[in-house]
Amino acid sequence: MPVVLDNVSFVYHPGTPHAWRALDGVSLTLDDREAVGVIGPTGSGKSTLVQHIGALLRPTSGRVWIDGVDTSARRADLRAVRRKVGLVFQYPEHQLFAATVREEVAFGPRNLGVPEAEVEERVRWALEAVGLGPELLDRSPFALSGGQARRLALAGVLSMRPQLLVLDEPTAGLDPLGRREMLDLVRRLHEGGMGVVLVSHSMDDVAELVGRVIVLDRGRVVLDGPAREVFHRRQELAALGLDAPAAARLVDLLRERGWPLPGQAVTAAEA
Ligand code: ADP
Repeated sequence: MPVVLDNVSFVYHPGTPHAWRALDGVSLTLDDREAVGVIGPTGSGKSTLVQHIGALLRPTSGRVWIDGVDTSARRADLRAVRRKVGLVFQYPEHQLFAATVREEVAFGPRNLGVPEAEVEERVRWALEAVGLGPELLDRSPFALSGGQARRLALAGVLSMRPQLLVLDEPTAGLDPLGRREMLDLVRRLHEGGMGVVLVSHSMDDVAELVGRVIVLDRGRVVLDGPAREVFHRRQELAALGLDAPAAARLVDLLRERGWPLPGQAVTAAEA
């Protein structure tokens, strides 16, 4: 499911003294099934960008096409578009609410009017996909470990059968094992054909999961290209307060793995 942003700007509170341009002329294309990382300092517009990719916000100017639907068009059916994008916000386990694991995962598809037999099937599939066993079905979500609770929240999104998964800091606050499980899980979902957008402060997470990295600064795309090339721009990353030593280490890591690079060169936008 391709997503295209063409010269997108977004202003919070337009026409007021608090008007704030959070995205400024962003153009990018996410190919079907692509895995992309989005990094940038706090306040650079990552979350605002993600909300455009999930059709939760419409651009102030410019266009966004999600699977061919122009979300800036007044007549666009945003509900249908939103269904195709699974958004996993930071600390999604804080939003768990149901009495049982089963009800938690069934909530989304039931809300969409999916027939009950299929709901049941989706619940089992989604729990299996995130590595939670059927013995947990009748357990309270609040009895799970931190890592399990986060994977349950992800199952609640997967049961809607999204084509693109957008994850905001999916490993934040997890212990090393929980982080490992989450990264492996996202990788498996991607290998299974799901598009992935990963927003993260962790360059290590980004390097593990995605081939392409987009760097935002003050609402603009300043770098967009193959992970290895972007991580090679140590000085530019350091200037944004991004972890340059980690980037240097990752260049070595990626070289060791011999990641062949597409011929495409990294594009640097004018500041
Ligand atoms: P990031 O996710 O990279 O931290 P955000 O997209 O959350 O960045 O924010 C981009 C800019 O927009 C920041 O300057 C932030 O203060 C501002 N902003 C975000 N949300 C709102 C809002 N609801 N109202 C006003 N300004 C906002």
